[in-house]
Amino acid sequence: MITFYNDRHSLHQGRVEMFRGALVPCFEVAARADRVLDELRRRRLGAIEPAQVFDDVALTRIHAPRYVEFLRGAWDEWVALDPANGQRDALPSVWPVRGHRSDVLPENFAARMGLFSFDAGTPLTAGTWHAARTGAWCALSAAGRVLAGERAAFALTRPPGHHAGQDFFGGYCFLNNAALAAQALRDGGAGRVAVLDIDYHHGNGTQCIFYDRADVLYASLHGDPRSEYPFYLGHADETGAGAGRGCNLNLPLPRGTGFETWFAALGQALRAIAGYRAEALVVSLGVDTFAGDPISGFRLQSDDYFQVGEALAAAGLPSVFVFEGGYAVDAVGINTANVLEGFQRRA
Ligand SMILES: [Zn+2]
Repeated sequence: MITFYNDRHSLHQGRVEMFRGALVPCFEVAARADRVLDELRRRRLGAIEPAQVFDDVALTRIHAPRYVEFLRGAWDEWVALDPANGQRDALPSVWPVRGHRSDVLPENFAARMGLFSFDAGTPLTAGTWHAARTGAWCALSAAGRVLAGERAAFALTRPPGHHAGQDFFGGYCFLNNAALAAQALRDGGAGRVAVLDIDYHHGNGTQCIFYDRADVLYASLHGDPRSEYPFYLGHADETGAGAGRGCNLNLPLPRGTGFETWFAALGQALRAIAGYRAEALVVSLGVDTFAGDPISGFRLQSDDYFQVGEALAAAGLPSVFVFEGGYAVDAVGINTANVLEGFQRRA
């Protein structure tokens, strides 16, 4: 399987995130992607290429132009406020809630940062824009290669993407790589595309982007949002709106869920995708479902991921894999490569 590797991902290096009232070191670190790359190379799972270059208009197929403009200039604005900010990450601290205005773009930088985000756990750094944009290019490149006839391609990138919405960042995500890939598949001729999200966390950004559309099915299995991040979306009764009614499937599972129950839910999602008659598949590949993950609560073991890959291959669809979460740094390479190797075995 061909991998498009984001060779600029380490430009995004958050120093701290807000966690239980304290600023703590970020869980989302550059070593995550490095470990996956090392493991893919060690197993010789396929060619590894840099992304093609796209202009920012490609990003606005999914993201609002004013949001893309904000991300592009945010670091320079932050440092212009105070040169000392160059040594600090930018974190939002104020947000509009129900009944507040989001149509008026504030001049104040902190207010704009809050308008375009939903948590204080996602530091914006000097290299965030360059890393995120190159990551989006990886997803677009992978979609392009699948449209050209490859059975599957993998976008190995960070920061991850599935929490990012049309005009908001959060959950370590800035640009929604999986949504960009799905849109590229649609634009390239696939009539119906399924996005299957197997990260531990619900992909609230992806769901929001496609919620009222019938041409993209979003299916996700994830920790129950009543107790698990991102909390405010991911319930089973969210099934889509308008033309998209019936095109959103959430399968929340309790903390502590093991492989057997999780794998049965995966089967349910894959049956929904088959019933939808999807012509292409995007997999939001998070491996924070692993038992050893420091911020998640499922109990998958490393060997289980081979079976996950085999089940995904059995769907028989041209597939784009997009790297999302997975914070057990010592295992993230093995677990991710196990999914891809299982897929190749069966494809
Ligand atoms: Zn996650």
